[in-house]
Amino acid sequence: MVVVAVAGLAIGYLVGRAGDGGVDAQEVSPTKARARDFYVPNSEDLAADEMRVIACGTGMPTPRPAQAAACFLVELGNGDKFIFDMGDGSVERLWALEIPPAYLDKVFIGHLHGDHFGDLGSMFVAGALGGRHGPLRIWGPSGQAPELGTAYAVQMMENMFTWDIAGRIGQTDTRGFHTKVTEFDYKLENQVVYQENGVTIRAWPAIHAIDGPVSYGLEWKGLKFVFGSDTFPNKWFNKYARNADLAVHECFVTVPDFISKWRATPEAALQVATQIHTAPEAFGKVMSEVRPRMAVAYHFFKDFDTTGPILERIRKTYDGPLSLAEDLMVWNVTKDEIRVRMALVEEHVWNPPMADPAIPPDPSEMGPFAEDRLGGVVPGYSDFIVSGRWEGVEDVLREIYREASEALGREFPYPGDDEGDGD
Ligand SMILES: [Zn+2]
Ligand SMILES: [Zn+2]
Repeated sequence: MVVVAVAGLAIGYLVGRAGDGGVDAQEVSPTKARARDFYVPNSEDLAADEMRVIACGTGMPTPRPAQAAACFLVELGNGDKFIFDMGDGSVERLWALEIPPAYLDKVFIGHLHGDHFGDLGSMFVAGALGGRHGPLRIWGPSGQAPELGTAYAVQMMENMFTWDIAGRIGQTDTRGFHTKVTEFDYKLENQVVYQENGVTIRAWPAIHAIDGPVSYGLEWKGLKFVFGSDTFPNKWFNKYARNADLAVHECFVTVPDFISKWRATPEAALQVATQIHTAPEAFGKVMSEVRPRMAVAYHFFKDFDTTGPILERIRKTYDGPLSLAEDLMVWNVTKDEIRVRMALVEEHVWNPPMADPAIPPDPSEMGPFAEDRLGGVVPGYSDFIVSGRWEGVEDVLREIYREASEALGREFPYPGDDEGDGD
């Protein structure tokens, strides 16, 4: 027996289960530890046949500390990791999971609303600095015009960081400051968009705002994870998500709450919450068709007073297993069990260890290499800016170099000095 967020219509019983330390959950002692039912990042191995899914964003387009915008991480026992959507604020959650950024290099975008891809820039820069030494790989749909497709959006994002990249070339390891985009036809119906290492990911159309959005299904070792991104209920999801192990689908705030809390006009609330998105009652009907082992509802602000009405409305049309997602909810999925918990994360995280070491900066890259990378832009300092350097700090900075050379047992020449002349 496991604890699920909401287990059918029945009450979920917590039955003693061995914790990671082998402690019985029922054993109570004034000095001995009891089993804990949290996921603590970097504390559990993933079994060879196990899938771990972590919600790294479950909210809406306006920022709130409690919930980042759409993002779900899928980790597989074969070592592969996939990210579905990367909404604003989600990269902070991903870093809290203490995963070496080199492993977070595959992102699947369901559609190009900011709350579903707005943190891609953070991932592009932070990942490159944190140890992703290859390109950030991005999959996403085309649109009705080239400018409405994923490749255009990513190219513009990279262009936006022209100064950022110019300011790092020759000064740090910049091998990760690249993207590799696979844009596919948004009209594909359950066609393969990714197939590597025993993992197959298919895409099908979603109905949301304008043409372009898609949903994804990931299959591996007989397990199936489905991610809807945003969509009005549609025939493709009902068909291709059927019998998924974990089916993530949006479930919007109720119309009364959207009017009173978001302060939408009734006209806009009805349009947005029932026609552009999926209303809770409609979410329930979709899941009654799909019949997953676990339905996951997200894309609502989950508060003490919004959650009840959403659950009530879902339960009018669906009585199966259900998780009302919030950030850092964790699902461990195997053939035998779906275990649902919350993650307990450290807020003061540093970057995790690098999967492969960084290389020291190569100042020679500041010349033609940089110009080439940046399309003719010549980075660097002008004589004017160099003339503003205050020489009054040179003595203390030289001392830092001397200190490092002594502590690390090799000579670090002060910039501008001849090689080997450290003083
Ligand atoms: Zn959207
Ligand atoms: Zn959205």
